Amino acid sequence: MMAGVLELRQVERHYLQGQKKLTILSGTDFSLAGGEMVAMVAPSGAGKSTLLHTAGLLERPDGGDVIIADRACGRLSDGERTAIRRNDIGFVYQFHHLLPEFSAQENIMMPQLIRGLSAEEAGKRAMQLLDYMQIAHRAQHRPAELSGGEQQRVAIARAVANAPLVLLADEPTGNLDPTTAGYVFDALAALVKQSGLAALIATHNHELARRMDRRVTLRDGKIVEL
Ligand code: ADP
Repeated sequence: MMAGVLELRQVERHYLQGQKKLTILSGTDFSLAGGEMVAMVAPSGAGKSTLLHTAGLLERPDGGDVIIADRACGRLSDGERTAIRRNDIGFVYQFHHLLPEFSAQENIMMPQLIRGLSAEEAGKRAMQLLDYMQIAHRAQHRPAELSGGEQQRVAIARAVANAPLVLLADEPTGNLDPTTAGYVFDALAALVKQSGLAALIATHNHELARRMDRRVTLRDGKIVEL
């Protein structure tokens, strides 16, 4: 079998709470292929955020390794991990975290400018993504002037602005009503299929989970298929 774009190999993650060691991830294996959309459905406190942060190189595993496009990331320097995070990983959260002073288009340009693209190139790509998310007509609006569904579409467009290999999402539609959640999900799913992204999406929404390629949960610190 071909190696996934994102691979977790025997990942360990523990927290110390006073004298007590909390084991969140233990011997976790996982593989995610390009163009694949996987739902992670698990109760609150099961370790979904810990897993997403570890897979997204925001936290280091205490054991095992995270492999992104054949690069073992566990022992890389902070600088190398930041570069991989910036270029190859996109994050979407439950709350959009858009910059309030900037327009939708400018928010999507930001990660591209940080990466070194010209304003012209970044602006063009931002407009393409807004068009793809069917909100091009909202490009010049600030986040506060957008609906919840529109804000999340902008947040998704921003997450994929640098054409990452992996998209990690923590309850991306958790703050939306069911109908809006469905529309935002449709846009996200189309983007994943069109771009060949590998997407891991934590959600409590069973209806949306059913529409993804696979469903996994966390049990005894391991990822298991549902
Ligand atoms: P989920 O996203 O599934 O709700 P989390 O990954 O946020 O779960 O948390 C898993 C467990 O780890 C919880 O019991 C939480 O309290 C604990 N935890 C998370 N972060 C820390 C931390 N920095 N220090 C100590 N315990 C933590």
